[in-house]
Amino acid sequence: MAKGKAVPKYLIFDYDSWPQWARTLYDFAIACHVAHLLDFFCAFLCYQFIFPSTFAEAAEGFKLGWIAKIVAFNLAVEFTLYGFWHHMLYASKTYSTPVKPRKFNKTNQYEAEKRVGYLSSSTGNLQREVFFTTVGFLISSVYQTIMTYCWANGYVPYYMDFWAYPAWSIGWMLFVTYWREFHFYWVHRAIHPWWNAKGGLHNGDIGAFLYRHCHSLHHKSYNPGPWAGLSMHPVEHIIYYTCALMPLIVVQHPLHFFYAKFHADVAPIGGHDGFADPGGDSDYHYLHHAKFEVNYGVPLINFDVLFGTFMDYKEYNKEKKKQEEKKK
Ligand SMILES: [Zn+2]
Ligand SMILES: [Zn+2]
Repeated sequence: MAKGKAVPKYLIFDYDSWPQWARTLYDFAIACHVAHLLDFFCAFLCYQFIFPSTFAEAAEGFKLGWIAKIVAFNLAVEFTLYGFWHHMLYASKTYSTPVKPRKFNKTNQYEAEKRVGYLSSSTGNLQREVFFTTVGFLISSVYQTIMTYCWANGYVPYYMDFWAYPAWSIGWMLFVTYWREFHFYWVHRAIHPWWNAKGGLHNGDIGAFLYRHCHSLHHKSYNPGPWAGLSMHPVEHIIYYTCALMPLIVVQHPLHFFYAKFHADVAPIGGHDGFADPGGDSDYHYLHHAKFEVNYGVPLINFDVLFGTFMDYKEYNKEKKKQEEKKK
């Protein structure tokens, strides 16, 4: 056994030593899908345990029983996953203390006088985030209710045997992640000012109007935590969840809808938790919250580089340190 300072080694391969092209290929072909296994797991559970009975009951019209089942499942996913993440990084002293130095913004956005709880904080930030994230899950439940009703009553075409068309079925499943990144950039960019923050409907800047009246609510979490993920204005939720409506354009299996929907429900947790590894490590979207007008998208399909709005976290940190030294 070697003496001295131990250096962690990768068990299977050394990703960091790979050339850039190999890392990009790996990220694009494998890692981006692996990162969403939890979202897929929720979709699978929902399809397996909720869909058969709700589908059968939906054929008889809108009734409280099956709709309540959909809502209950979605709220259970919300409070289990968002609650667990919040517990690990903020609420539990045991787990949150050692990872504190990994927080992007060192100020705890949930604590003024009192330690943060599970659903409330002395700063009021957590209550707002939990409330609007719950509104988000209710809206995604409405999407699920309407789709289930449409399938059950023959208004939207579908096929039920996933393995009858394996290439088609798996191809669309893999497509979900790329589609979500593409869709997210454009619907998100559209609700930030198009040319001028002071603009509005009078000069055709629909983005400035939507930012002022809707998206600014999401940006109240400029120092985000897990619950900030879906803390959005209901109008933004309605726009955001249109990513799950692919079955209206192509004939798909219901699992494609469920995967896209739960991708949109669950992925924002890691994107907003405010921590580097072992948190979600999303410095990219953290900077969007901290600086407002950079990094509208995600690194995988990088429209920000293309349109000149990309900000690198390492560069941002260097610049910040320089300015702090100047002040001294
Ligand atoms: Zn934004
Ligand atoms: Zn965000």
